[in-house]
Amino acid sequence: MVTKMKELSLEELVSLCKRRGIIFPNSEIYGSYAGFFDWGPIGVELRKNIVDYWWDFFVRSRDDVFGMYGSIIMHPKVWEASGHVERFIDWLVECKSCHSRFKAEEVLEAAGIKVSDYSPENHQRLIIENNVKCPVCGGELSEIRKFNLMLETYIGAVKSEENIAYLRPETAQGMFVNFKLFTVYARNQLPFGIAQIGKVFRNEISPRNFIFRCREFEIAEIEYFIDPEKENDCPFFKEVEGITVKIWTKEMQKNDQEPKEMSIGDAYNEGVFSNQWHAYWVGKSLEWLMDIGLNIEHLRAREHLETELSHYSIQTFDIEYYFPFLGWKEIEGIANRTNYDLRRHAEFSGEKLYITMDGKKIMPHVIEPSWGVERVVLAVLTEAYSKAEDRVVLKLVPKIAPYKVGVYPLLRREPFIQKAREVYNMLKRRFACFLDISGSIGRRYARADEIGVPFGITIDHQTLEDNTVTIRFRDSKEQIRVRIGELVEELNKLLS
Ligand code: ATP
Repeated sequence: MVTKMKELSLEELVSLCKRRGIIFPNSEIYGSYAGFFDWGPIGVELRKNIVDYWWDFFVRSRDDVFGMYGSIIMHPKVWEASGHVERFIDWLVECKSCHSRFKAEEVLEAAGIKVSDYSPENHQRLIIENNVKCPVCGGELSEIRKFNLMLETYIGAVKSEENIAYLRPETAQGMFVNFKLFTVYARNQLPFGIAQIGKVFRNEISPRNFIFRCREFEIAEIEYFIDPEKENDCPFFKEVEGITVKIWTKEMQKNDQEPKEMSIGDAYNEGVFSNQWHAYWVGKSLEWLMDIGLNIEHLRAREHLETELSHYSIQTFDIEYYFPFLGWKEIEGIANRTNYDLRRHAEFSGEKLYITMDGKKIMPHVIEPSWGVERVVLAVLTEAYSKAEDRVVLKLVPKIAPYKVGVYPLLRREPFIQKAREVYNMLKRRFACFLDISGSIGRRYARADEIGVPFGITIDHQTLEDNTVTIRFRDSKEQIRVRIGELVEELNKLLS
């Protein structure tokens, strides 16, 4: 019997992650440190496969996107210009009795109150009108106040105000401040994009829900620069216009309407997106998320309400995933940042941040798709988690599975072990694979299923007679018999 997704609890997932070396809390011997996590041998491979595939998909296989790798700490002026010092804030409430601190939005959510206006005044009003109390001890809550999410540090030998620097809360600014350099690689032509994957830090008031809300996490981000006069000339639009997904515009949300299933092409024609490039990046993002195994049924594109928009954006769509234990939650945001960042950096630095094309000086507009790697991994694990006869099977798509192949001697004795070793040695340089000799063959299959190994190769009695092995498929449990000499070719076929 297969467990339906809805039955999965966060505790089950956390337990699997710990048991199988995927992800675990940081500094656990000291009681752990909220919002920080460590990744074990299986987790690190899964994460790497996902970000490597992201890089292949969005950078290596395109000639209009260039990669960069920026530093975490940047000149403090960057964050003044970007608006983060003043406006990268959450609204905080504190319990007057137990002094627990919460995001205003979260205490309202915990009290079952729907927020449809994200302004601070509305949060305050809802807390008072509904007499919302502390979710921990039931105590009275303070007035809401601003809380800047940037983590600070000091650079240099003196710890003083003048030496404050920030750990970046997004990777985007690295791409904006280097914009001029990249125009050269783009041969002074628009459009082009800059892509970056890297660590970011946010001093979240209440990190929670495992890796969903961390204080240190990774972002994969593209800043895609377009000519503002050609916002609706996307030559790649055909690639995505047929993708159909639930779309929840701000009007639908305000009118209490359900999200509507629409193709990206129809939604664009109906004026849902700020421009065609914005629509394209929503579609392309969905294509990638489906490629790594997420079911489009569990994805939707939700437009931000005006009161929810970041200070730099005129329109943002969140790609939300349906987590059975959390509901619909953002895993990626796709914002139209216009020329806000280039304009501000030009103003603050005095540099001329435009591109000269056909004799014209253009300050491009920017569409920014921004994925949270931890949240994508959480969605992938959630989607892949299933149960068969009370055992966990992680149905990861082969391209991101930490191990592609397990090699097993049917019996734990010679000559089976020797033959298994030969097969393993032949495969190990070509595929991420392992040899497992311990426990019964059933236990070994079960262990491999739990970490999502898509193919198992068994050396059995017939192998010793005719040099063939079986390949077992994780999801169907079917087996096929293949000559050892043809194994590499066969696995390559299966993996592609
Ligand atoms: P939220 O509203 O949940 O705080 P956000 O809108 O501030 O998120 P963005 O600034 O758009 O998030 O960041 C880009 C992506 O980074 C998000 O789509 C999300 O996947 C991820 N992300 C943001 N905050 C966190 C966090 N604290 N922990 C893990 N991932 C995060």
